[in-house]
Amino acid sequence: MKFKKQIYGMKAYQPGKPIEEVQKEFGLKEVVKLASNENPFGCSPKVKEFIQNNGINFAIYPDGYAQELRTAVSNHLGVEETQLLFGNGSDDIIAIISRALLYPGVNTVMADPSFSQYSHNAEIEGAEVRKVPLKDGKHDLEKMLEAIDENTSIVWVCNPNNPTGTIVADEELNAFLKKVPQDVLVVLDEAYFEYITDPSYKDSLHYINEYPNVIIMRTFSKAYGLAAFRVGYAIAQADLIAKLDPVRAPFNNTVLSQKVAIVALQDQQFIKESVEQNENGKQLFVEFCNKHGLKYYPTQTNFILFEVKTDSDVIFQEMMKRGFIVRSGNALGTPGYIRVSFGTEDQNRRFLSTLEEVL
Ligand code: PMP
Repeated sequence: MKFKKQIYGMKAYQPGKPIEEVQKEFGLKEVVKLASNENPFGCSPKVKEFIQNNGINFAIYPDGYAQELRTAVSNHLGVEETQLLFGNGSDDIIAIISRALLYPGVNTVMADPSFSQYSHNAEIEGAEVRKVPLKDGKHDLEKMLEAIDENTSIVWVCNPNNPTGTIVADEELNAFLKKVPQDVLVVLDEAYFEYITDPSYKDSLHYINEYPNVIIMRTFSKAYGLAAFRVGYAIAQADLIAKLDPVRAPFNNTVLSQKVAIVALQDQQFIKESVEQNENGKQLFVEFCNKHGLKYYPTQTNFILFEVKTDSDVIFQEMMKRGFIVRSGNALGTPGYIRVSFGTEDQNRRFLSTLEEVL
């Protein structure tokens, strides 16, 4: 069958192998997935308690406006409720923004490599994708500015960047935002915001007040440990949110997802502890890289991209056979590297001693 829209030949996003499949394929009892930057400590125990006693009427549609969750997030961030847009994960927000602003004839600028969904959605909408190579593993904002022209509709800044984990500091970003034309939307994807420890990027919410063309995306999938529930959100000036909101599917967050996100938000102690443990994991991996002379990118996230000095697919396969799922750099545009999410201390130690045998 041939349709008029040119999206044939595109591949559906491939999220890597599920744990159960790897268990079956290699006959393994235990498999540790360190491939998708999830929280190895799960989520707040309060969420689990809540799910057992939720009393939800399954026959009733969710609140499409997510009022209760909206109030909770608005209080947590100190922004107006009208400044928020909720999505079925930030993947949904990326799709909403792309659907709203991209069409054949316009272009969109992003770093390379960066999160794959930006270009994926642009291709679906028929827009031109302009990829600007990273410089020393970081967004090259000068070159990104040069790539912007009168047909540019969206610029994506993944901060911290996936797959490198690197961050564009506040000052640099501010200088960039000043120069971007006001009719170009700048998306700051802060999926890993809670894990940032670099004081040079304290809080980006002030950009929202200063720039009507900036939108920030955050998610409950990473530090909050709720990837299964699919809750992401965007923050911008109310005018901009109102322009994007009609593109959103009417009930794009389930009742349970909205409720558990509120419960998780209330447990900031869990986030604090997750971030502390994450820092310990980071230290172990950095020490390992230094000991073995492997290049790595300084990460502000819950994962690290580092060199393996051989074909990353080989290391990926060898580690999988031994019960660890990671992401091969070949799939991320960083051949010769692998991306590993930090696990629990035990998982990290086991992973690194296994990797030592494989390298
Ligand atoms: N942005 C970035 C940079 C990511 O790494 C991810 C998840 N891998 C997402 C967005 C999507 O997250 P979610 O849809 O689970 O909120």
